[in-house]
Amino acid sequence: MLRRTEGIVLKTALFGEADLIVTHLTSDFGLIKTFAKSPRKIKSRFGSSLEPLTYSKISFWGKEDANLPRLTQSDIILSFQLIRDRLECFLKVSEILELTASFLPEHEANRKVFMLLLDVLKETEKDCTLPLHIILYKIRFLNLIGYAPRLDGCANCGKTGFSFYISHGSVICERCITGMDSPIKLSPASIKLYESLSRWDLSLIERIKPSRNLLAELSDMLNDHIRYRLTRPLKSGAFHKVF
Ligand SMILES: [Zn+2]
Repeated sequence: MLRRTEGIVLKTALFGEADLIVTHLTSDFGLIKTFAKSPRKIKSRFGSSLEPLTYSKISFWGKEDANLPRLTQSDIILSFQLIRDRLECFLKVSEILELTASFLPEHEANRKVFMLLLDVLKETEKDCTLPLHIILYKIRFLNLIGYAPRLDGCANCGKTGFSFYISHGSVICERCITGMDSPIKLSPASIKLYESLSRWDLSLIERIKPSRNLLAELSDMLNDHIRYRLTRPLKSGAFHKVF
């Protein structure tokens, strides 16, 4: 059965000497892995469309439950070449590609996540020196898949709290603290920044101008939360700090 959709390449892995396994986030089928025959041959029909980040129209062939359907076509819609051309930008974006590939189950369509990634890549390509888009993606992605940290009130009673407990994925107020694990202390400003990044329209995000310290505080908390949920750090995160 031939299926068609649109997809963004999250990663590729060599298969044998000349073939590739390609992981796409697609609009209609969620995360999928396909087998691409000899994409490295000079006259390959795939051209450069299997580079990570590339947004393409794709077709793939295989039984509905096939583990590894065969990629038969890939036509570039947007290459995001400007991001790939700058190593610093590409490393930043690699982190959210890896985050997406690590958390999402295969074959479960999530159009909101797909649109979020596409929108964030478009904004990042305009100016990748802005660190907010990467943090924004992490927050909204976690929210869409039900793993967002809760900062708007104590997990137990709903009252305001500034101590974030990783094991609870939430802030807990002074009265309700019972556990022994030490919390991450958050400032009111970082909680406000988190709320703004969760809700503001993407085109308005540039108006938010937080200090580097504030960004680092929120980013560190998010990365700790992600590490705990994944039970390992993201590999891409080891290459750089966002700020
Ligand atoms: Zn409480």
